[in-house]
Amino acid sequence: MSEQKNANPSLPVLLGVMGDPIAHSKSPAMHNAALQAAGVNGMYMPLHVRPEQLESAIRGIVALGYRGVNVTIPHKEQVMPYLDVIDESARLIGAVNTIVNEEGKLTGYNTDGIGYVRSLKEEAVPELAGKRIAVLGAGGAARGVIYALALEKPERISILNRTADRAVALASDLRAHGLGDITGSGMAEAAVILAAADIVINTTAAGMHPHVDDVLVDPALIRAGAAVSDLIYNPLETRLLRESRERGCTVHGGLGMFIYQGAVAFEHWLGIPAPVETMRRAVLDSF
Ligand code: NAP
Repeated sequence: MSEQKNANPSLPVLLGVMGDPIAHSKSPAMHNAALQAAGVNGMYMPLHVRPEQLESAIRGIVALGYRGVNVTIPHKEQVMPYLDVIDESARLIGAVNTIVNEEGKLTGYNTDGIGYVRSLKEEAVPELAGKRIAVLGAGGAARGVIYALALEKPERISILNRTADRAVALASDLRAHGLGDITGSGMAEAAVILAAADIVINTTAAGMHPHVDDVLVDPALIRAGAAVSDLIYNPLETRLLRESRERGCTVHGGLGMFIYQGAVAFEHWLGIPAPVETMRRAVLDSF
């Protein structure tokens, strides 16, 4: 990795996150702790940007000399026309969550899926090649995660979704980009697919606070010894994870995805390794 990127080291590196709403975001606490731990003179601001102000806010990145920003709900798709370059991952996923300002040229990346996979490998399943993966859900988060999983060359990825057509459409779109053996189906196929899966990943909101008793599939359908992962991090351990752990599965919660999407963004902006454990501690302390 190259040395820290900062055009004028006497000025602080300016970073932030644009969203509407934004006050609840844990990104400022996470990134400010990371900047401090890495010894970088910089600050990361929460930036409340309403949809009608998005274009001017993006121009403001250049005008104010921001090194980069994260972009969150509801701007991840709408921001794309205002950027100069869209990285291949973001183009294929159809959403940007990280913008880098390189001397006035704005490049959009998507670090959500890549961050998720880095977290899964660091925290639960070091090797994904050759694995049979079942993904529950076919929304925006699923798309980014499946794209990044496919780069790891699993044996196959099976998408299960309440609305079967959406799973079929997502699978055929990703297959058309040469991303490997990806199929989509409705929940009626769940028992067969889950019994054969090495890794099961919930990308839906089922089980998220306050609906903590919801679970999309019966954990008894998942074979003991499989790895079970949930993108949800509130609660830190969903019912799906708790019951899977009790049945002898390796479990992986969604907090790591949040931490590592931030870590990958930090590395795009600064060109130095992100202090991941400091970031995790800062987020846990902010709960
Ligand atoms: P989305 O685009 O709205 O997609 C939602 C998906 O979940 C769809 O496939 C939908 O099925 C399914 N779904 C939702 N509620 C369901 C229910 N009660 N029963 C069955 N299926 C249900 O949302 P998203 O942006 O992909 O986000 C999904 C989840 O990922 C959220 O819980 C979010 O918190 C989490 N997430 C976590 C991180 C992180 O950093 N850890 C980052 C991004 C997202 P249909 O197609 O049938 O409607």
